[in-house]
Amino acid sequence: MDETLLWEVKLFSFNIANFKADGGAMFGVVPRVIWSRYVKPDDQNLIPLALRSLLVQTEDRLILIDNGIGDKQDEKFFRHLNMFGGLGLEGGLQKAGFSMQDVTDVILTHLHFDHCGGGVYIDSDGEYAATFPNARYWLTREQWENAINPNPREADSFLRENLIPMQELGLLEFIEEEKELVPGVELRIVHGHTPGQIIPIIRFGTKTLVFGADLFPMAAHIPVKYNMAYDLEVLKTMEEKEEFLQEIQTNGYSILFQHDTQHECGTVRLGKRGYQLDQSFGLENFIQS
Ligand SMILES: [Zn+2]
Repeated sequence: MDETLLWEVKLFSFNIANFKADGGAMFGVVPRVIWSRYVKPDDQNLIPLALRSLLVQTEDRLILIDNGIGDKQDEKFFRHLNMFGGLGLEGGLQKAGFSMQDVTDVILTHLHFDHCGGGVYIDSDGEYAATFPNARYWLTREQWENAINPNPREADSFLRENLIPMQELGLLEFIEEEKELVPGVELRIVHGHTPGQIIPIIRFGTKTLVFGADLFPMAAHIPVKYNMAYDLEVLKTMEEKEEFLQEIQTNGYSILFQHDTQHECGTVRLGKRGYQLDQSFGLENFIQS
């Protein structure tokens, strides 16, 4: 190996689990006859959603982006989520060759339960403990303040048992503005889905990967008008998507779709009817192409 080569970033993704959510809620005002072409609902109008995390290994850091739902809630909570499949958090890390102890940084895009619930667990003494004991957990102060004093629309998504233990265990590091966490890992901030959501952007050689989080949860959310009913400020989401899509399409970036069971990654093209999915591929293809 050439000694002069710089350390290359390594990327790993894994799906923690799938769950189901109402298809209508995932597509807002888009009619069912349209969105059901992209993803087929079951007899209760539910569609499957992935819980995909991304691991970014740099020379001296192992950064995990989001960590799924966790396991602290009761049986009724999980019954409503209809969870199935996936590797689990520990299983996903193991498959990539790592343990919970190896993670140095956790980026929490936002604090809705399906993005941060794996951050703390209840140990055998019944105490809350850090899932990643050697990691700092990064999030925006704006999202934290929004989550601990939730508005009525989002209150059901911010679970105290996920949030307060992370603070009491001293895990949290707040960011106040957009920044590079480490060279090659940029944190952008958007507000339409929830105030202060982080969108991580990873530079990988000459390529760039955007972690879609809940700005681009599925490939079907690429069109500017296709938005979740969960978005607090949908006009803001549309503006933020338009701006991001222009940058993504112009520069040939790829997006990793956190919640899409069919498309792991994709590129974007601008056609007559606006922005759409161009190529669909797995992270392996992104890495090797
Ligand atoms: Zn969300």
